[in-house]
Amino acid sequence: NLSDRLEKSFKLLKGQGTITEINVAETLKDIRRALLDADVNFKIAKKFTDDVKVKALGQDVLTAVKPGQMMVKIVKDELAQLMGGTFTDIELQGKPAVILMSGLQGSGKTTFSGKLANMLKSKKGRHPLLVAGDVYRPAAIDQLKVLGEQINVPVYTEEGNMDPVKIAKAAIKHAKANGNDVVIVDTAGRLAIDEQMMNEISAVKKAIDPDEILFVVDAMTGQDAVNTAKEFNERLDFDGVVLTKLDGDTRGGAALSIRAVVEKPIKFVGTGEKVDALDVFHPDRMAERILGMGDIVSLVEKAQEQFDEDEAKQLQKKLQKNTFNFNDFLKQISQIKKMGNLKDVMGMIPGMGKALKGMDIDDDAFKHIEAIIFSMTAEERENPSLINGGRRKRIASGSGTNIQEVNRLLKQFSETRKMMRMVSQGKNVQRMMSGMQ
Ligand code: GDP
Ligand code: MG
Repeated sequence: NLSDRLEKSFKLLKGQGTITEINVAETLKDIRRALLDADVNFKIAKKFTDDVKVKALGQDVLTAVKPGQMMVKIVKDELAQLMGGTFTDIELQGKPAVILMSGLQGSGKTTFSGKLANMLKSKKGRHPLLVAGDVYRPAAIDQLKVLGEQINVPVYTEEGNMDPVKIAKAAIKHAKANGNDVVIVDTAGRLAIDEQMMNEISAVKKAIDPDEILFVVDAMTGQDAVNTAKEFNERLDFDGVVLTKLDGDTRGGAALSIRAVVEKPIKFVGTGEKVDALDVFHPDRMAERILGMGDIVSLVEKAQEQFDEDEAKQLQKKLQKNTFNFNDFLKQISQIKKMGNLKDVMGMIPGMGKALKGMDIDDDAFKHIEAIIFSMTAEERENPSLINGGRRKRIASGSGTNIQEVNRLLKQFSETRKMMRMVSQGKNVQRMMSGMQ
C-alpha cells in the first residue's frame, strides 16, 4: 500500500539529522517505487519525484529541524498539486443544467447519478430529474427507478424507446415543463471500450449539449482506469471525473494519475454503495489521506524499542495464552507515556491522524483510564471477565467516572488485547488494520 511505503521511506529520513543529496535519492527511489506499485503511470511517477527533489533540495530543508516532516509536507503538497490543487465544482448554470454520465458498465454511473441527485436536492435545494438512458437492459431502468423512489427524485423513462438521444431530448423538455432545474442523464456502458457505445454517447452529447459531462470510473481498476479515462476523454472531452469505490483498500494510483494524464479534475469520490456515500473531491484532503493513513508498523516498532527484552517476552507469552490483563494494560500505558508526546504516538494509529488534528491532547488523556483501572480490585485486574454490570457501576463511582467510560475502556481493552495478540503472532499487518476498522 502506497501510504505504508511512503511512510517507510520517510521513516528512514526521520532517523537522519539532515537531508542530503544522497539520502534524498534513496527516499525518492522508494517513493517512485511505491507510486509505480500503486499503479501510477511511470512518467508521472518520474516527474513527481523529480519535482519533489527540486523542492526538497532547494528549500531550507538542509537546515530544517525535522527533515522527515519537511519531506512529508513537500510530498503532500506535490501530491495535492498532481491531483489538481484545489476543488473544482460542477457547472450548473444551464436552465435546466444538464449533466451527462459516461463510463464503462459497472463503473458506478447509475449509483452515482442517484447520489448526485440526492446531494443536489438536499444540499443545494435543486430539483433534479433523473433520466434512464441505459435502454438496453430493463434492469438498468428499474435500478434507477428504485434509486429515484428512495431519494424522492423523479425518474424519466420511456418504455420501449431504444433511442437514448430521443429520450434525453424529451427528458429536457419534460424538465422544463415540470420545474426540474437539473437533468442527470444516466447512460449505458459496455464492459470495455466499444465503437457503438462511443458513437451513442457522442450522439447524446451532440443532441443535448450538456453543461457538464462526468466520466465515472472504478478506482479499483488501477492503471486500466487511466487508460479508459484517456479514451473517453479523447471522444467526449469530458469535464470531470468521478472516482468510485474508494471505500475498501483501493489503491490510490488512479486518483494520482488520471488528473495528470487527461488534465481533467476529479470532482467526486464514491465511498460506498449507499446513496449518501459521496464526497466532493478535495486534492489536499486526498493527499493527506494518502499520507496520513498512519503507520502501525512503526508504532509497534517504537513500542518495542521501549520494552525491555524480558518484559516483551513475558508479554508475548501472556498474549499467546490470552492472559493479558489490566495490570499489563497499566504497564503499557506507562510505556506509552515514556515514548514521549502522546499525540505523535497516537497519530501513528491508522485513522487517528485526522481525528487528532487541532485537538489538544496531553498525557492527561490517560488519567481517567488509570483512575478506572485503579478502582478495580486486584482480582478484577487479573481477570477482566469478572467485571459484570454491578462491578462496572462500583468502578465508575469509585473512579469518579461514569458507566459509559468504564464500558468504553473495557471495550478498548479487549480490542487492544485482540490487536496485540495478532502482532505477537506475527499476523499480517494489513489484515490487522482492516480488522480495526
Ligand atoms: P453502472 O453500470 O456504471 O451504472 O454501475 P452501477 O451504478 O450499477 O454500479 C455497479 C456496482 O458498483 C453496484 O453494485 C454498485 O452498488 C457498486 N458501487 C457503485 N459505486 C460504489 C462505491 O462508491 N463503492 C462501492 N463499494 N460500490 C459501489
Ligand atoms: Mg447503470
